[in-house]
Amino acid sequence: MTWLFLAAALLGAVGAPGAQPAPAPASVVLVTLDGARVEEMFGSLDLDILRSTLEANQRVEDQPVYRRFWAETPEARREKLMPFFWGTLMKAHGSVAGNPARNSRVRLTNGHRFSYPGYSEILVGRAHDETIKSNEPVRNPYQTVLEFMRSRAGLSREQVAVFASWSVFDAIVEHAEGALTVNAGFEPFETAGPEARVLNALQAETPTPWNSVRHDAYTFRFAMDHLARHKPRVLYLALGETDDWAHDGRYDRVLETYARTDRSLQELWNWLQAQSEYRGRTHLLLTTDHGRGRTTKDWRDHGKDVAGAGETWMAFVSPGMKPRGEWRDHPPLTASQVAATLLAWMGLDWRAFDPLAGSPVH
Ligand SMILES: [Zn+2]
Repeated sequence: MTWLFLAAALLGAVGAPGAQPAPAPASVVLVTLDGARVEEMFGSLDLDILRSTLEANQRVEDQPVYRRFWAETPEARREKLMPFFWGTLMKAHGSVAGNPARNSRVRLTNGHRFSYPGYSEILVGRAHDETIKSNEPVRNPYQTVLEFMRSRAGLSREQVAVFASWSVFDAIVEHAEGALTVNAGFEPFETAGPEARVLNALQAETPTPWNSVRHDAYTFRFAMDHLARHKPRVLYLALGETDDWAHDGRYDRVLETYARTDRSLQELWNWLQAQSEYRGRTHLLLTTDHGRGRTTKDWRDHGKDVAGAGETWMAFVSPGMKPRGEWRDHPPLTASQVAATLLAWMGLDWRAFDPLAGSPVH
């Protein structure tokens, strides 16, 4: 250390009169749970749906997920399903919008109501219904907020990282291939640390019922591995099983996925709070790409013709926002506001990204 540096460090420590210390750089973490309905997020186990998945001779009271997650009120049920999210994160640190029972709504502005258009709306800041209209792995023609953050904040490729269970994220998250660190689907995790190397080998040997979606457990472990070794400023964790088990009609697995995801969020949060680089300067946004049907007939599905598929939710944990619990009585938020919100948290000008993007949520 030179004397100049030492003097600067000492001045910084005691606070030079009249000089503002340089603000510590912010970090953002975006988490999405694919096709996670407002019904489960705010009300947990839906008894009619669970019943509709049983054989005629099965009793709902005998089901393991009923025993584990049922309670009389939505508030008690959701704390059983996601005890960390509801009992700690939303109670002490953040807020969540989208509960229709509180007159709170979060909507998609895209009309398709399936995954690629939903994620693109989130990452690009608005819908492009004419060009973003399929789930095919076609490269996103629009620059994403992740790419913009990397270039504007002068970050390295390792510092903007995406870990996703669904393979199509390779195409969704960057319009210029190779701009970001991206690991999606059953793709090998090339830069794994020693522990994650074992998981990297194992993911190919533990297939799911779906060709393009791996188990969220691998996605989460790889993200944690990258976090610990590279300390990225921008992390996007895209989990998928909430959607795929629902398509398969496995409501028991859907609920178990929420509970597992809650434990992952707890581990992620505790890890972030234990690091001086992240504690007190990390902003977390959780949301979903689309809703799904509201009834026993259509809860498995989503898309433009399914009522409820355009209704989503959004949770915020930010040092700059009031921890207000559940949002009530406000004009609807939209998925198109995520990009600008992340940029505002990073101290970047969202209008320079796209003046037509949804505005930041405060
Ligand atoms: Zn889906």
